[in-house]
Parts: sequence; C-alpha cells; structure tokens
Amino acid sequence: MQKLTAQRQAILDMINRSDKHWDADEVAYKLKEQGISIGIATVYRGLSALAEQGLIESIQLADKKRYERADKAHHDHLLCTNCGSIEEFCNPEIEALQDKVAEERGFHIQGHQLLLFGLCKACKVGER
Ligand SMILES: [Zn+2]
Ligand SMILES: [Zn+2]
Repeated sequence: MQKLTAQRQAILDMINRSDKHWDADEVAYKLKEQGISIGIATVYRGLSALAEQGLIESIQLADKKRYERADKAHHDHLLCTNCGSIEEFCNPEIEALQDKVAEERGFHIQGHQLLLFGLCKACKVGER
C-alpha cells in the first residue's frame, strides 16, 4: 500500500481513535487543537481519499458527508434533525428483508446505507 502523507495519517489516527462520525470541519478543528494546521480543502481531499482506500467509512447523513472508523461491525444510523446527534443500530430483521427485496428482483447488493432521520428522545420531549 502506498504510504500516507503525514497529514492523512493524522486524520486517519484521529478517526480511528474515536467512535464519532466526523465531518470535515470537525476534523480540521480537532487537528488545529493538536497543533496541526491543515486547510479545509486538504481535509476534504484527505477524507475522501482515505474513504476511497477503504481506510475509513464514509456515510451520507442528510446533506452532509461524515466519516467513521472502518473496523466497526456493519450498522445503520438514526440522525436527529434537531440536535444532530447520531445513534447506531443494527436490526437483523431489516438486514434480512433487504436481502429478500434484492433477491426477488435479481439484484446483487454490494452494500447499503440506511438512515432514519427525525427527533431523538431528548429533542422529542423538548418539543412538547
Ligand atoms: Zn436531538
Ligand atoms: Zn456509525
């Protein structure tokens, strides 16, 4: 495998050390805190390159691309449209149903991303 630049290695290490779902701004901010100053365009390019190499996972959450560790077991996401919190879930019945839908249509699944968006428990209570 081709060697990563120091900047990309720093981005990769940061994502690998946490369970978070990072966007480019958060990555840039955190790197700056660590004394590493990288322009936002470089962060964007670094993130998509790392995802393309399969070193991190990219997920489309509503209007935003976020990135997480690639070594987590498969899971899907719940996104709160009010506070932006993200929860992970994996439901075996949903997983099996997706396989069934594909099979019925002779469709070969290469992967899937499922996003449920709405209000989290805390925000739902706050609404009243
Ligand atoms: Zn919320
Ligand atoms: Zn996740």
